[in-house]
Amino acid sequence: MILNYKTFVLEYKHPFGVSSNTRRTTTSVFIKIQHEGKVGYGEACLPVYLGETIEGTIAFFEKVKPFLVHHANSAFNEILKAIDEFSLENNAAKAAIDIALNDLAAKIERKPFYDLTGIGKSESRLTSYTIGIDAEEMIGQKIKEAADFSILKIKAGTKDDKALINLIRRYTDKPLYVDVNQGWKNKEEVLEMLYWLQEKNVILIEQPMPVTMLDDMAWVTERSPIPTIADESVKRLKDLDKLQGCFSGINIKLMKSTGLTEAYEMIKHAKKNKLEILLGCMAESSCATSAMAQLMKFADYIDLDAPNLLLNDPFKGISYKNGKVYLNDLPGIGAEPVEALF
Ligand code: MG
Repeated sequence: MILNYKTFVLEYKHPFGVSSNTRRTTTSVFIKIQHEGKVGYGEACLPVYLGETIEGTIAFFEKVKPFLVHHANSAFNEILKAIDEFSLENNAAKAAIDIALNDLAAKIERKPFYDLTGIGKSESRLTSYTIGIDAEEMIGQKIKEAADFSILKIKAGTKDDKALINLIRRYTDKPLYVDVNQGWKNKEEVLEMLYWLQEKNVILIEQPMPVTMLDDMAWVTERSPIPTIADESVKRLKDLDKLQGCFSGINIKLMKSTGLTEAYEMIKHAKKNKLEILLGCMAESSCATSAMAQLMKFADYIDLDAPNLLLNDPFKGISYKNGKVYLNDLPGIGAEPVEALF
């Protein structure tokens, strides 16, 4: 199926929090894969803390390129399986290839990905909007900027998370997702905190404890008044078995799962095992975020706000209105590059 394989690399940086004083930047590498005049696009988003680099990502594409050219007519799943075996890491690079191949396959059939796969189109869904840890006056400013969004996601794990939540509550009573990023270590204190947070209209907690504290996490989940969602504890399908009973749900991200194909497998596994599903993202542009949004109808919670945090989104895809994510009817993953940037 895949001929004329061509890597297409654009490095770009996008500041977070458009009018904030905390300008973190991150980088994505994009590829395009062509066949018979159709072009599939993919994105590898590379937040520094994940350890994947631009150089490593491009090197992975170069390594895989001859294989892709010579296996243009192989079955889709065989291609992905072989690519996976090229390296133990490079999840974001693998995701870029998977997204581009899925985009291409759907475009060849002139169908949106959700139709090609038989998933069906998802209705518009409410997404959370992330408020990063910041100085007090900036938090007020960020909450004002989030006026369109009816659920906020708070990055906690600070020295005093109760003070942080009390501060947020001076500005808004919107429901909150709280992401602790492994920041809490004492299970009794965690449980007490979860009851306190529930009273503050926090509706889920993400990765409260370190990845290594699975037994404690199981103890907490059994008693928790709100859903506990694994993030750092789950990357791929193979991680799911050991999590059973330790969390109420999982945060699936394309840059962890190696793309749409495995993300969908994780969804099926989660459904079968009564795990809740949160669809999340790193700092992807509208390219990878539109791809992930194809799976929205399976999710209990949506956290696909990344394109809103970018100043220079090089793709046009999903749209946002009144805090909801809307799919379009374009063939493929539903995203096309902004011409000026490509
Ligand atoms: Mg998280």
